[in-house]
Amino acid sequence: MPKAVALYSGGLDSTLAILVMLKQGVDVTALTFLNHFGCDISDRSSCSKDPFAASVKFGFQVKLSHLSDKFLNIVKNPRYGHGKNMNPCIDCRLLMLKEAKEFMKLTSADFIITGEVLGQRPMSQRKNCFPMIDKAADLKGLVLRPLSAKFLPVTSPEEKGLVNRELLYGFTGRSRKPQIALAAEFGLTEYPAPAGGCLLTEPNYSYRLKDLLEHNAAPSHKDINFLRVGRHFRYSSDCKIAIGRDENENKTIKSLAEPDDCILKVQSHAGPLTIILGNVSDNAIALAASLCVRYSDARKLQSVPVTVTKGDKSYTLDAVPADNVIIEHYRIEKKKPVAAGK
Ligand code: SF4
Repeated sequence: MPKAVALYSGGLDSTLAILVMLKQGVDVTALTFLNHFGCDISDRSSCSKDPFAASVKFGFQVKLSHLSDKFLNIVKNPRYGHGKNMNPCIDCRLLMLKEAKEFMKLTSADFIITGEVLGQRPMSQRKNCFPMIDKAADLKGLVLRPLSAKFLPVTSPEEKGLVNRELLYGFTGRSRKPQIALAAEFGLTEYPAPAGGCLLTEPNYSYRLKDLLEHNAAPSHKDINFLRVGRHFRYSSDCKIAIGRDENENKTIKSLAEPDDCILKVQSHAGPLTIILGNVSDNAIALAASLCVRYSDARKLQSVPVTVTKGDKSYTLDAVPADNVIIEHYRIEKKKPVAAGK
């Protein structure tokens, strides 16, 4: 029985690619790659609530692999550049294919499949991009894209008769209608709505990441995990302040914080959890306290007691709410372009 390794995100396209292969009697093992910036993998649909639902229903194996620092390295120094934001999509595809190649060798699989659809995404799903990426991964002819195969050169598994090209598809472009129709044919009813990509495709997230990398070339996993939570303020090159925007973010801050982190909270009113990341100085605490008051229900008061906790020490200081000038000055946020004439 022919064996294939699939790049699998749990999204519609990568699931369909697997189902098309299973229908042809190919034994498929799905590989789901994780990174710190989201879980969109081979077809960049958003995360499935239960990424294994289809694997259970249709009977294929899923293996998880965290790309960790390898992924961070390509974000920092992408050979093929970033997309519109910090997303290094071509390098990302390349990295995943290289990892899949190792797994293919290890399991004596015959080829790799992906759920990519020609023309669906601007950066990495262009016709000339596929052969370039396959060649760079040293996988020429070994990557089959079942959903667009009819518009792509014949691959090795097709040549060898492991796969029947006639039963592959010729989907192109951004419309999902053909995939939705095919899903219905297969009885695939649960799949996530398509999304634009991982967190690196978001302008504000990318802006924060750029700021982090400018000040710290080797950020910790904790630094990166904090990028997705709260409002962020840069106090100095080695100190940032993050402030929860709602109850959920307060909980996340609490869960990401380490015992020795400096945490601030307005005690008399409802308000955000505030954390100082990096070098904690008295001036940084004073700023964090005034920001903490500004985003609390005590923001209209003159002066408010704020509890500062660091390790097993805790004390209270009085802080005035930060004004807009302070917020503007310290906030790490992509500024909107000012319209001409304003
Ligand atoms: S959006 Fe681009 S960088 Fe992000 S996971 Fe998808 S291919 Fe990779």
